[in-house]
Amino acid sequence: MSGRPVLLFPLFAGVDSLPGIGAKTAQALAQGEITRPRDLALTLPYSVIDRRPVRSVRGVQPPAVVTVEVTVLSHSPARRKGGPSRVLVQDAEADFALIFFHARGDYLEKTLPVGARRIVSGRIEAFEGSFQMVHPDYILPPDQAATLPRFEPVYPLTAGVTQRLMAKGVEGALALLPALEEWIDPGLKAREHWPDWGAALRAAHAPEGLEDIAPTAPARTRLAYDELFAHQLTLALARRSERRLKGRVTRGDGRLRARVLAALPFRPTGAQDRSVAEITADMADGRRMNRLLQGDVGSGKTLVALLALLNAVEAGGQGVMMAPTEILARQHHEGLAPLAEAAGVRIEVLTGRDKGADRAAKLADLAAGRIHILIGTHAVFQKDVDFHDLRLVVIDEQHRFGVAQRMELGAKGDKVDVLVMTATPIPRSLALAQYGDMDVSLLDEKPPGRKPVRTALIATDRLGEVVERLRAAVAAGRQAYWVCPLVEESERSDLTSAEDRFRALRAALGEGIVGLVHGQMPVAEKDAAMADFVAGHSRILVATTVIEVGVNVPNASIMVIERAEIFGLAQLHQLRGRVGRGAAESTCLLLYQAPLSEGGARRLKILRETEDGFRIAEEDLSMRGAGDVIGTAQSGLPRFRIADIERQAGLMAIAQSDARALLERDPGLETPRGKAARALLWLMEQDRAFRLLDVG
Ligand code: ADP
Ligand code: MG
Repeated sequence: MSGRPVLLFPLFAGVDSLPGIGAKTAQALAQGEITRPRDLALTLPYSVIDRRPVRSVRGVQPPAVVTVEVTVLSHSPARRKGGPSRVLVQDAEADFALIFFHARGDYLEKTLPVGARRIVSGRIEAFEGSFQMVHPDYILPPDQAATLPRFEPVYPLTAGVTQRLMAKGVEGALALLPALEEWIDPGLKAREHWPDWGAALRAAHAPEGLEDIAPTAPARTRLAYDELFAHQLTLALARRSERRLKGRVTRGDGRLRARVLAALPFRPTGAQDRSVAEITADMADGRRMNRLLQGDVGSGKTLVALLALLNAVEAGGQGVMMAPTEILARQHHEGLAPLAEAAGVRIEVLTGRDKGADRAAKLADLAAGRIHILIGTHAVFQKDVDFHDLRLVVIDEQHRFGVAQRMELGAKGDKVDVLVMTATPIPRSLALAQYGDMDVSLLDEKPPGRKPVRTALIATDRLGEVVERLRAAVAAGRQAYWVCPLVEESERSDLTSAEDRFRALRAALGEGIVGLVHGQMPVAEKDAAMADFVAGHSRILVATTVIEVGVNVPNASIMVIERAEIFGLAQLHQLRGRVGRGAAESTCLLLYQAPLSEGGARRLKILRETEDGFRIAEEDLSMRGAGDVIGTAQSGLPRFRIADIERQAGLMAIAQSDARALLERDPGLETPRGKAARALLWLMEQDRAFRLLDVG
């Protein structure tokens, strides 16, 4: 592996190597993850202050930053300790006051002697009918006017760092930029009118107006593209090395699938057929499958998974499906068992709860190939779980695995095909960022006959009415979910706990009718409560968000979500997706505590307007930002310093195809452009890319 190019060394030294940056500033910068000149160069201003001088403050719309030449008229010192000192000044057309707090000694007399001319620059505010400027940013004699920047970039700061220190540091970092060869496709660069890398960085740090700060500014777009391109190049390398991995040729004859399809009361949708075809084609191919099945809640992913698993079994192999929770693993098992039975296939469930002799027996059957399909939680990846001939791993992942983790998982199995299913539709740009290394099948068609879910917003003070409606619904044979935000009252006192709600509903509606599940319950109790609800013994299930993922009870046609305003959009969409699965008209009641915040109101409104998961995901992205949509830091979504995947969505797709095309033409990154791309990878610290290049 070739090391980091010497040209880049200065950018990767400590920030304290820069003029004007001492150990203390370096420490403060480190709080913002800025430790090297490179980090400074890649930390772009988020705003810009126009400091071009004006003739007068007259006509200015406060608050606004103004730079103006004034004559000092008079001083009125603070009347009490800690009070404001005022310095009255006059520009070409108007008087206003400069205000200072805690002015020391004769500082003001020295910097602003009466009668002197000064250039002051700072924020003008209206106060009691006149203008004032509190603590001007600059006070200069007119002969030093040239030292004042015309436009001043505004950087994100951490404690202990000032704008001036940042600017100084950035200046030092920019002075170190080496001349690098271009890594962007020349056609693309010309078409987009993008500047060279160095020029782009210098321009991005020297904005001359808000349009230069916008994500559409050519310099910023180019730098964002660099970041995305580096990321996609790594994913493309990962994809290539995955695809180069020898897989098994798994080609089922369709006999088991035919039996299952015959036992089904419905026909697969076109999207399901298409996805199954894509999956079986991958499995029949000698390379390893690494495919994502993306489909909205209720789009029928489970059937696709089963058919893929049966394909593995038909070919004499085994398959495993991993669910994120115990409840879900068991429900998948219960749902699939009758179909598997119809096909004469043995399906078993394995979770952390399996212990002792039972577990040992299952493991023995699995190792001997007597179990064909295993459903489970993480427990299926424990060391002592051996398969006879594992060919397909299905991960019902719900965003819980990042790119890196998925890669590890793929490496664990031996030539195993991998199918990942996500339930939350995510916008294309995000899908590319998180799953750019995978091939994607899309379930973009819902099974027919789904009735829309009626969604209503109700303030919590009308809770009594909701309970009465439930009473009537239960009497009419319907079932309902009631979702509460948190379990323990102590966790956050103003949120109703599921347990309290459970008690209150039980008191109002009767013993035995109301069940409860939450994450902190012992698993056996949880399962029993779930089973009661599925069997229709309990009619109302009070739950925390454990029911969010995948639970399927067709007779449940009412979803009540309490404190809906504090849930995220995607989560609300998932929750609502639990109803509308049966023949009955379904209702989703979003209970909220007034007054709603602006964001809360907007989320609930979107939810009332649409059931389209993709539209909801786009809205979610535009409201919250990428990291939040995918989940947390552990989502595996890279954190970009410059790129804004919401507002620069189109760039990601270009970066992906460009990255894949470059690797096609230059697999070892040996051409001049390939070498330039290596420098970019170093710059963007895509260490994984180099490991993949080495094995590639
Ligand atoms: P999800 O994609 O959310 O996992 P499921 O696989 O749980 O969705 O399917 C939701 C429901 O739709 C299940 O009850 C399933 O039996 C049913 N279903 C799946 N495919 C079809 C189809 N082609 N026609 C009718 N119903 C279907
Ligand atoms: Mg599912």
